[in-house]
Amino acid sequence: MADKQSEPPPPVKRYRREEKSSESEEDVDNYQPYVPVRERKKQQLMKLGRLGQVAAEVSAETKSSSDNDPDDETSQEDWGRRYNVSLLDQHSELKRIAEARALSAAERQAREEQHILESVAQSKALMGVAELAKGIQYEEPIKTSWKPPRCILELPPERHDRVRDQLMILVEGEDVPPPIKTFRHMKFPKGILRGLEEKGIKKPTPIQVQGIPAVLMGRDMIGIAFTGSGKTLVFTLPLLLVCLEQEIKMPFIRNEGPYGLIICPSRELAKQTHEIIQHFVKHLKMTGMPEIRSCLAIGGVAVSECMEVVQRGVHVMVATPGRLMDMLDKKMVRLNVCRYLCMDEADRMIDMGFEEDVRTIFSYFTGQRQTLLFSATMPRKIQNFARSALVKPVTVNVGRAGAASLNVRQELEPVKAEARTVHLLQCLQKTPPPVLVFAERKQDVDAIHEYLLLKGLDFANIQHVINYDMPEDIENYVHRIGRTGRAGGEGVATTLLGRAAESSVLKDLAHLLREAGQKVPSFLLDMIGEPDVPAPDGQGCSYCGGLGHRITECPKLEAVQNKQASNIGRRDYLANTAADY
Ligand code: ADP
Ligand code: MG
Repeated sequence: MADKQSEPPPPVKRYRREEKSSESEEDVDNYQPYVPVRERKKQQLMKLGRLGQVAAEVSAETKSSSDNDPDDETSQEDWGRRYNVSLLDQHSELKRIAEARALSAAERQAREEQHILESVAQSKALMGVAELAKGIQYEEPIKTSWKPPRCILELPPERHDRVRDQLMILVEGEDVPPPIKTFRHMKFPKGILRGLEEKGIKKPTPIQVQGIPAVLMGRDMIGIAFTGSGKTLVFTLPLLLVCLEQEIKMPFIRNEGPYGLIICPSRELAKQTHEIIQHFVKHLKMTGMPEIRSCLAIGGVAVSECMEVVQRGVHVMVATPGRLMDMLDKKMVRLNVCRYLCMDEADRMIDMGFEEDVRTIFSYFTGQRQTLLFSATMPRKIQNFARSALVKPVTVNVGRAGAASLNVRQELEPVKAEARTVHLLQCLQKTPPPVLVFAERKQDVDAIHEYLLLKGLDFANIQHVINYDMPEDIENYVHRIGRTGRAGGEGVATTLLGRAAESSVLKDLAHLLREAGQKVPSFLLDMIGEPDVPAPDGQGCSYCGGLGHRITECPKLEAVQNKQASNIGRRDYLANTAADY
């Protein structure tokens, strides 16, 4: 104990002590609930963003009185006292300034985030503290006794590339092992093959085709594949194989192990993974192989249950970070013979704030290990972060992170902003209609729509038009649905009606339906608050043609009038400012 104190205490100890002391009696008043790293970061960023905004406001105020900063938008104006400008105009001008200010605050925040991101990626290698301290760097991957079968080794590299192409497997790294398309060629023992059969698993999925050989060879690996693509088997099957090998060579004695450690971000996932391991263990045993022992170190499962297995000598431990840290800290388990580490759903682990815990866990390893990271998504941040702890890793990426569907051919075409609408015409010729056009901004959708109408586009058989929203006026609606049902064909127009729709246009719509001899649904009647719509008398609005109202209450006309009125005010205001200069 005395000589231990002479050394600087390793961060892991300090970390645990701090946590404990916060629970001790005298500190109860100062108790602060644990806030996950992610949450803390968010709060910090929000604070920064807010501070930035406040600062901008303060500086804007001081500058507006000092009146000499050309960058400052408010320096020329003295809001509130300009009785010669209408309050409405002052309001809109102030709004514009506030928006500009909010934007710059957002920019600042983005810059700050970028800055934080960079510093995180650089300084925090996912490496054990002890390894970092000793400056140990492993240069070569672990060697295993497994080799691909000769029939695969004899094949030319072009074949391997072809297989990867076919299965959309992207690989990175030095000397990537060949992909293998059958479990039999992966040289799994009978028990495992039977276990696969019983699960109805016949041939490996793409991540397994490339991932399993890489892991069997002892390579460190980053495996990225979408959810449900079979990642679990990539790290469990090879682990069972090495454990068997170890056990056969030299049976595990009491309190020895684990040899392999699988860390999962949630209890559920850990449980599932453990069950899968047990399934194969059972089948291996049935074929006369020695027993592989695995235990589950998660909250909600009694520690004693896990310790029972550990005391008999444990090959595999499946754990969540919290429980594992606890057991390591209490010296209930050790990782001194652990040579195989897998982090499943690594991105979630980091996201959930387990980063620090994982680093602490890494510090308990004493020898070189094979390290595997699996994830459905793997943002650059984590990839960089992980790579520094992996030795010559193989990255296997199937279907790319973020997982766009593989069934979609993605074509990118460079088009200048002003030529986009025209270009759209060409794009529309690519496939037979119907075609859906999406645009982010409403103005764009309207512009596209207008343009296509202008071009008199007449695709003979658009069978279905979907109005994602009800247009603001009925004319537009008529044009939209007019895209279908052409040239004698039948068409359907589905309109998604939400609460946002104006009641006047809904009235028009109801009349339009009536006019066309179609049933007016009762919910529409409810929305416009009328028991029924009278048959149209042919005298709708003379301004817009809407059947549900008269020109005296035409919303479109009203809008135009309002716009003109506000322009008058605007002209005044501009004239005034011009006079000021
Ligand atoms: P991931 O971790 O990538 O989300 P899992 O490993 O949990 O995916 O596997 C998802 C499901 O696919 C499981 O039910 C598993 O039994 C099944 N599965 C795994 N490999 C194969 C395979 N080669 N063929 C058919 N089904 C498989
Ligand atoms: Mg999984």
